[in-house]
Amino acid sequence: MSLIDHAIAVNHKNAKHHDPSLANKPAPKIAILTCMDPRLNQLLEWLEIKPADADVIRNVGTATTEDVVRSLMFSIHVLGVREVMIIGHTGCGMELFSEESFEKHLHTQCGVWAVAPDRFHFYTDVNLTTQKQVLKLRSHPWIPADVVIRGFVFDLSTGELKEVTAKDDR
Ligand SMILES: [Zn+2]
Repeated sequence: MSLIDHAIAVNHKNAKHHDPSLANKPAPKIAILTCMDPRLNQLLEWLEIKPADADVIRNVGTATTEDVVRSLMFSIHVLGVREVMIIGHTGCGMELFSEESFEKHLHTQCGVWAVAPDRFHFYTDVNLTTQKQVLKLRSHPWIPADVVIRGFVFDLSTGELKEVTAKDDR
């Protein structure tokens, strides 16, 4: 059975016990930008942050893309989030390619050249790239100066979170 079919079957059963208060307005306190890597799916649990308290924004490589800014505008200016945590991680797939080698990889896989995104956001140093993502957001004119933005790298081997930016070096 495909996992989609599995999800549909389980939903029919579980919706009968659903808590209707979930339809109330959300009130997140923090926005967390991290990688889509499934090894991070329990991150909130490990950091003991309640799911209701966090807007979690994920993409491959923890990149502060235009779409991440779009989501943060809602978190900050509609829902009142005042803390942003950027969490890169060790062993990310974004270290496997360069922009050019990934386009070649896609060409090999698909047999054609196609219009590509401007950037896939590959990197070689997770500490450096995480610092850059923090600085990009801290300098964004639509993000108020009182919004705290801090960057971290999660080590998948040790389970430790290491801060890569100073607390107040905005
Ligand atoms: Zn990753």
